[in-house]
Amino acid sequence: MSTPLFPALVEPTDREAVRFGDLALSYRQLAAAAGALARTAAPASRVAVWATNSMHTCLAVTGALLAGVPVIPINPKSGERELGHILGDSRPDLVFAAADDVLPPAMAALPRIEVDPVALAAEPLGDLPAEPGPEAPALIVYTSGTTGPPKGVVLPRRALAGNLDAIADAWAWTSADTLVHGLPLFHVHGLILGILGPLRLGGSVRHLGRFSTEAAARELAGEATMMFGVPTMYHRLAADVEADPELAAAIAKARLLVSGSAALPVSDHQRITAATGIQVAERYGMTETLMNCAVRADGERRPGTVGAPVNGVEVRLVDEQGTVVTTSDDDTVGEVEVRGPNLFLEYLNRPDATAAAFRDGWFRTGDVATRAADGYIRLVGRKATDLIKSGGYKIGAGEIENVLLEHPDVAEVAITGEPDPDLGERIVAWIVPVPGRDPQPEELVNLVATQLAPHKRPRRVQFLDRLPRNEMGKIMKRSLAGD
Ligand code: ATP
Ligand code: MG
Repeated sequence: MSTPLFPALVEPTDREAVRFGDLALSYRQLAAAAGALARTAAPASRVAVWATNSMHTCLAVTGALLAGVPVIPINPKSGERELGHILGDSRPDLVFAAADDVLPPAMAALPRIEVDPVALAAEPLGDLPAEPGPEAPALIVYTSGTTGPPKGVVLPRRALAGNLDAIADAWAWTSADTLVHGLPLFHVHGLILGILGPLRLGGSVRHLGRFSTEAAARELAGEATMMFGVPTMYHRLAADVEADPELAAAIAKARLLVSGSAALPVSDHQRITAATGIQVAERYGMTETLMNCAVRADGERRPGTVGAPVNGVEVRLVDEQGTVVTTSDDDTVGEVEVRGPNLFLEYLNRPDATAAAFRDGWFRTGDVATRAADGYIRLVGRKATDLIKSGGYKIGAGEIENVLLEHPDVAEVAITGEPDPDLGERIVAWIVPVPGRDPQPEELVNLVATQLAPHKRPRRVQFLDRLPRNEMGKIMKRSLAGD
C-alpha cells in the first residue's frame, strides 16, 4: 500500500493550510473540499485546471491528485496558439475552473466543473479515495518553452512525494513553517514546491496573489517563516530594501529566502545581504526533475552556486563525448546529467524527445555547470543559449552577465553568441541601462576584459528598453538571438 501524498489530509486538524487574500482554509476544510472534488473528478482520465493565482487552483489540483486523476495546470495567460498546442497534446476530458473564470473557446467546449471553495469547504468530511501507486502519473506540466515549444512533462507521484521530502530535509522545512510566495500556479516552482510542498508537510502557505516586497514583508514580519521567489522578484526586493530600512527589517525576520527558476545575479545576492543580513539560498530545478540541487538552510551560501544535490538525486557532469568529467574545480565545465526517483516518466506524445533526453538512464538537462570539491554546483548556463564557443574557448554567459551587472549604469543584461566567420561565435551584450544613464559600449567591453579575460569581452553591445522575459522572469534569449 502506498503512503498518502498528503498525510495531513487523512486526519485533518484546524491548522491553517492555505490562504489567498481573505480566504483561508484549515486542513479540515481543505480535506472536506478536496475530498468532495476528488469524488467529482474520479471518472475523468485527465483534468485541466485553469490555474489562476487563487484558492480554486489549489483545491482543484489537490482534489484531482486525491482522485488519482492526472492534472494539467493551464496558464490562464496562454496565447491561443499555445493553448491549442497544450489542449491538443494533453486532451483533458474535464476542466476545473472558478465560476467567474471566462474560458477561451478551446477550453469552454470541454465539460466543466465549477470550483467554489467556500461551498466545498462546508461539505462534510468523507472518506478519501484509495491512492494510486507511486508510478501513476500525477501531473502533466508544460515546460517554460525557453528553448522550444513547451513539452508536456509527465510526473509520477513518487517524484512529487520523494522530492518534496528531500527539499524539506534540505531546508529543515516542517509543519511549523508558513511559506509566503506570489508565484504563478501552473509551473513546478509555484505549484509543486510552493503549494503542494506545504500541504505534504502539514505546514501553511500564504499566496500573495501578486508579489510585492511590501506584501511579502508584512507576512514575514508576521507568521511567515520562509519565502520562495524568482530572480526578478529578488531584483525588485533588493532595490526596495536598500531604499527602506523598515522594509529591510521586516524581510530580515525570514528564516529562509529561496530563489530559483533562473540564476540570481551575484549583485542581487550581495545587495540583499547588505540591507537585510539574510543570504538568499538558491536551488536548481526543472519541470522534468523537480529539485536537483539546493543550498541547505544551514549550509554555506556561495553566491552564483545552487548547492549540492538533494537526497536521492545523483548529479554528474559529462563532456561532449558523454565522458564523465572527474575534475572538481571552477574551470572544468560539463553538461549536467541527473538520475534518481525525482525524474519524470516521459514527455507526453514525444517518444523521440523522451529517448533523446536520456543517456544510460541519466537525464540530460541541457544545463552546463562546474562542480566544486565539496559538491556545490555552479550553473554556467544552458548548452543551447548560454555557452558561447568563441575563438576555441567555451565561455559561459552568466559569468559575463554578473560582471556587467556590477556597472552602476547597467540595470539588466543578457549575453548571447552570434555567428562570426573568424571566431565561430562572437559575444553580444544586450544591455538595459539604468533609466537616465548612458553607459558607453567601450567602457562595458573594457570592464569585462579587465575583470575576466580579454577573450570574454563582448564584440557587440546592443541597448534595449527591456529584456524579453516569460512569466517566470526567465530571459527568452531565443528572441534576442534572432534580432
Ligand atoms: P524549456 O525546457 O521549454 O526550454 P525551461 O527549461 O525554461 O523551458 P523549466 O523546466 O521551467 O523550463 O526550467 C528549468 C530550467 O531553469 C533549468 O534547466 C535551468 O536552465 C533553469 N534554472 C532553474 N533554476 C535555476 C537556478 N537556480 N539558476 C540558474 N538556472 C536555473
Ligand atoms: Mg528545459
